[in-house]
Amino acid sequence: SGTGTPILTVSAVTMRFRGLKALDEVSLTVAPGEIRGVVGPNGSGKTTLFNVISGLYRPTGGRVEFLGRDLTGSSPYRLARAGMSRTFQNLRLFGDLTVEENILVALDRSRTLGAWRYLLGPIAVLRQDRELHRRARDVLDRYGLTEFAALAPKSLPYGIQRRVEIARAVAAAPSLLLLDEPAAGLNGEEVRQLSEIVRSIRDSGVTVIIIEHNMGLVMSLCERITVLAGGRIIAEGEPAEVARTPAVIEAYLGD
Ligand code: ADP
Repeated sequence: SGTGTPILTVSAVTMRFRGLKALDEVSLTVAPGEIRGVVGPNGSGKTTLFNVISGLYRPTGGRVEFLGRDLTGSSPYRLARAGMSRTFQNLRLFGDLTVEENILVALDRSRTLGAWRYLLGPIAVLRQDRELHRRARDVLDRYGLTEFAALAPKSLPYGIQRRVEIARAVAAAPSLLLLDEPAAGLNGEEVRQLSEIVRSIRDSGVTVIIIEHNMGLVMSLCERITVLAGGRIIAEGEPAEVARTPAVIEAYLGD
C-alpha cells in the first residue's frame, strides 16, 4: 500500500448541526485493499462521517473524493452507482421480501433505478431475470445463506439478518464497503464468522471501512484505525500504535 490513488480522500470535512460541530475539519485517506477501522466514544461523529461519505449528508465544509473524483454532496444513489456501498446500525432490509429477493433487489439497483420502484411494481419482474437469479444464488452461496433463501429476513435470527445485510451490500461488487457497527448484537461465534466474512470481502478486492465498538474485532481485523473524539481525529495508525496513544486512552476513560 501507499502507492496509487487512494480509494477515498476526505479533506477537512466539517458537519454542523445548528450550534453543534459533529465533524470538525476531519481529513483521512484510505488506500485500496485496506480494512480501516473507525472508532471513538459515543457521539464522537463516526456515523456522521459515514453519512457524509455515503452522501446522506452534504458536509458544511470540505471535500469527499471517491476513486479520484470529487463526489462531495452526491446523492447516495449516485455514490452507489459509482461503487460505494454501506450497511446501517439498524438493519435496512426489505422485511417482507425473501432473503433471495433482497439480494435480487440489490443486484438490480446497481444497474437500474432506486428502490422506490419496488413499491410500485411487483418483485415478479426481477424473479424472471435468469441472469440476475444466477448471480443472486451465487451471493447466497458465498455467504452461507442458501438455506434461508425463501424466508423473510424478519423471521430469521438477528445474526443471520446481519449477514443478509452484508451480502446485500456487497452483492453488486462495490469498490468500497462501509460497515456501521456490524458486530452489534452478535455473539462470540457470530463475531468470529463476521471477521472471516470481512476478510474474504477484502480479499475479493473490496476496500472496507468499519465503525465498530468491539475493540477485539477492530484490533484483529484492521490494518489501520482512525480514532474520533468530539468530531476530530485524535489518532490514526496501526492498532498497537493507536492503543498506546495517551489521547485515545483518555478519550475512552471518559466514555
Ligand atoms: P457516533 O456515531 O460516534 O456515536 P454521531 O455521528 O451519531 O456519533 O453523532 C455525533 C454528534 O452529532 C452527536 O452529538 C449527535 O447528537 C449529533 N448529530 C448526529 N446526527 C445529527 C442530526 N441529524 N441532527 C443533529 N445532530 C446530530
